[in-house]
Amino acid sequence: MKTSIATVSISGTLDAKLQAIAAAGYDGAEIFENDLLSTHHSAREIAAMMRDLGLACTMFQPFRDIEGLPEPQRARAFDRLERKFDVMQELGTDLLLACSSCSPLADPDRARTIADLHEAGERAAKRGLRIGYEALAWGRHVNDHRDAWGIVRDVDHPAIGLVLDSFHSLSRRIPSSSIGDIRADKLFIVQVADAPVLDMDLLQWSRHFRSMPGQGDFPLDDWADAIRRIGYDGYWSLEIFNDRFRAGSAHGVALDGYRSLRLMQGGIARPSAEAAALPPKIEPHGVEFIEFAASHEEADALGAMLRPLGFHPTARHRSKDVTRWQQGAINIVINCEPDGLAHAFDVVHGASVCAIGLTVADVPAALARADFLRVPRFEQAVAPDEWPVPSVRGVGGSLLYFVDAATCDAMWAHEFPHLLEPAPEAPLLTAVDHIAQTMQYEEFLSWLLFYVAMFDLGKTPQLEIADPMGLVQSQAVESANKAVRFTLNGSLAAQSLTSRFVQNYFGAGVQHLAFATDDAFAVADSAEKGGLPRLAIPRNYHDDLEARWGLAPELVKKMAAADLLYDRDGDAEYLQFYSRAFARRVFFEVVERRGYTGYGAVNAPIRLAAQAHHKPDPLTYS
Ligand code: MG
Ligand code: MG
Repeated sequence: MKTSIATVSISGTLDAKLQAIAAAGYDGAEIFENDLLSTHHSAREIAAMMRDLGLACTMFQPFRDIEGLPEPQRARAFDRLERKFDVMQELGTDLLLACSSCSPLADPDRARTIADLHEAGERAAKRGLRIGYEALAWGRHVNDHRDAWGIVRDVDHPAIGLVLDSFHSLSRRIPSSSIGDIRADKLFIVQVADAPVLDMDLLQWSRHFRSMPGQGDFPLDDWADAIRRIGYDGYWSLEIFNDRFRAGSAHGVALDGYRSLRLMQGGIARPSAEAAALPPKIEPHGVEFIEFAASHEEADALGAMLRPLGFHPTARHRSKDVTRWQQGAINIVINCEPDGLAHAFDVVHGASVCAIGLTVADVPAALARADFLRVPRFEQAVAPDEWPVPSVRGVGGSLLYFVDAATCDAMWAHEFPHLLEPAPEAPLLTAVDHIAQTMQYEEFLSWLLFYVAMFDLGKTPQLEIADPMGLVQSQAVESANKAVRFTLNGSLAAQSLTSRFVQNYFGAGVQHLAFATDDAFAVADSAEKGGLPRLAIPRNYHDDLEARWGLAPELVKKMAAADLLYDRDGDAEYLQFYSRAFARRVFFEVVERRGYTGYGAVNAPIRLAAQAHHKPDPLTYS
């Protein structure tokens, strides 16, 4: 797959954009006209820069309103076209994107459109150049790639071809099967964008909500598959207009785009022949462990919260200052080492989750997938007798370990030989239910892509949750067996709990850990007896529960006494409660799913309001 990206997709000045595009590994870039107009470098200098960076100039774009104009506008448009041909020759590209006209002056007559494009083709051919015609979804007379293809076919000029842009086709729900009619030699370039499915004005949707493949809801695999089937082997070029990306780091967004094209290359629904040779997505079996970085003092405080939840410290590491806490299938590792990554993490963030271990069937294949996506590996010196567990960098610089599912028991036995207390025989908690990660709003889509490109995880629909201090965007990624679930949260509101976490934590990280139980009441009882500080839920909430669901007053009384939140979906029920935050950062959640598959989104505003109650007053808090 030959990869390209339009310079409009990322932030910064044109030269900085090109450097970021080259560093991310693309084969080429489309030069967006405004980027050229706003740089002090000449077109020739940009061409030289691209040559030095090893980037092909895949296209110059856009040229608007070429077809159907009356005189004298028509003559002016063709003069303008010749001027742009000059620029293209200086830039070193032979391809110009001409989008279907939006001009109120444009004549709807198809023969006129064909004649004008033919004329443009004649002029381009004289200079050895080509023009790709693109149907804008909001084009005045041509707004469907099927019509654009019919016109290109009938223009029948070697210098006139088609540009397909997934946004323009999929926002209008044009069936991808129609691509089968297009001749590959006439498809000059393919532009790729994803987007969330929204019911809104097409132009605004395109300008602000385009995203990288994998971050939105478009059926891009079918679309890409249809293009592959006609034999297209040209550039796949990202063209993403998104305010968030323009506010983000050019290098980060360029790398995300590269990963998204890799993701598309692999396909999901119907992988191409090429995809068969690529490292497949990693199928995570489960969460094997969660590692906290902490000082001894913090480790004691953390232990004081884990015990009432039913955890026991069961073993110490063979050589390091690391303790394993256990219960059911859950392993929590508390790392108090005086140096290394965990220590650095503790210094920067305070006691917090510095690593997550996921079990996988094939560790080398998992690493190959990470390499394929340019996800950086983490290397730390390993003692000669230490069990090697490879890892990559995840959210906020934390680590994701790949634990071999077949040998994980042997790993624990080898690494943690110094036994402490036995693991509880009748665990209160059975497994890690989900891991909630909080991040800046601008990096939300980046981490979403990280998870869906690297792992075989499905996305839930994106939600907006009301915090008393502003809105929070939330979305989950889940494995098919539901053993691995991450919820991602980001907020633009400066005082929302989400944003305060990111500020206080100095970056993105794990904000809460949810554990599964078969008996939330029993855990709440144990937690109460053990002195776990719980998040108090207002009585009004429980009064409303009783009214809303017709629950027995006795049951609701029990729920209220335990600060349990409740939700129902059909016959499925959900019970959950929260601890207060450890060190104002990480808190714990206990969930009992009775066939329920969500996360209690309806209760999130109640929880956030209860947490806001404990928010320090910025005027008095120091
Ligand atoms: Mg386009
Ligand atoms: Mg949760």
